[in-house]
Amino acid sequence: MAHILRTAPSMLLNIARPSVVPGSPAGGSPSTAGPVDPSLIEDLAAANRILADQGVLDGYGHVSLRYPGNPERYLMSRSLAPELVTVSDIMEYDLDSNPVDQRGRTMYLERFIHGEIYKARPEVNCVVHSHSPAVVPFGVSSVPLRALYHMSAFLTGGVPLFEIRNAGGMTDLLVRNPDLGRALAKTLADKPVALMRGHGNVVVGPDIQLAVYRAVYTEVNARLQVQAIMLGGSVTYLEPEEGVLAATNIAGTIGRPWELWKKKALRK
Ligand code: MN
Repeated sequence: MAHILRTAPSMLLNIARPSVVPGSPAGGSPSTAGPVDPSLIEDLAAANRILADQGVLDGYGHVSLRYPGNPERYLMSRSLAPELVTVSDIMEYDLDSNPVDQRGRTMYLERFIHGEIYKARPEVNCVVHSHSPAVVPFGVSSVPLRALYHMSAFLTGGVPLFEIRNAGGMTDLLVRNPDLGRALAKTLADKPVALMRGHGNVVVGPDIQLAVYRAVYTEVNARLQVQAIMLGGSVTYLEPEEGVLAATNIAGTIGRPWELWKKKALRK
């Protein structure tokens, strides 16, 4: 990957200007993990705009990418509405969510969600935190969010609920410190999605396309589940075995919606 970046020094300037020598002295900024393939930064910027275009993120919420080649770092936009994010807004963080080179840029208050999940889940390379509107009711109701069609098969393992009162008592509901981030990661455990009571949800994946796909179809499933319940009869949900079979099939095809979503979002 590094060889690609050598041909794109402007990208290096954007995200990887070390403010201290490697080794990161105590109290100083962490050192950069070095160059990244620019196409991955472009995908991260696109993911922000796709999730806004698809109604998952609004003026709030964020998406991050674990640093390719260094699992101790991640990349995420400066504090900005996701629909406005471009490659030049992407910043580098260590897993304690300290910025490598802040340069006065404002940071997302809830960035600890990302750092603490990356610490707890080595196989996760992309994290989405949203206030995905159709999902919010399932975080405050006794009705659990459950997979009801093949596109949301990844939900068949269950969707845990993060009750922030258990971790922090009375709060403003924001995951604004590492302790709350750790508690959320613990609730998420080995699942792809966790609900956050009275707030939103968090979605993770092994790569950016799968995480974005899951965030979109968590929202869609929530919408469809409400509709199915409102019909008034009993609802048949996916069995875990159907979930595994369907998820395997869909994992091989998500390049298709990704290209469509990206084209639509970047055209705006
Ligand atoms: Mn939030």
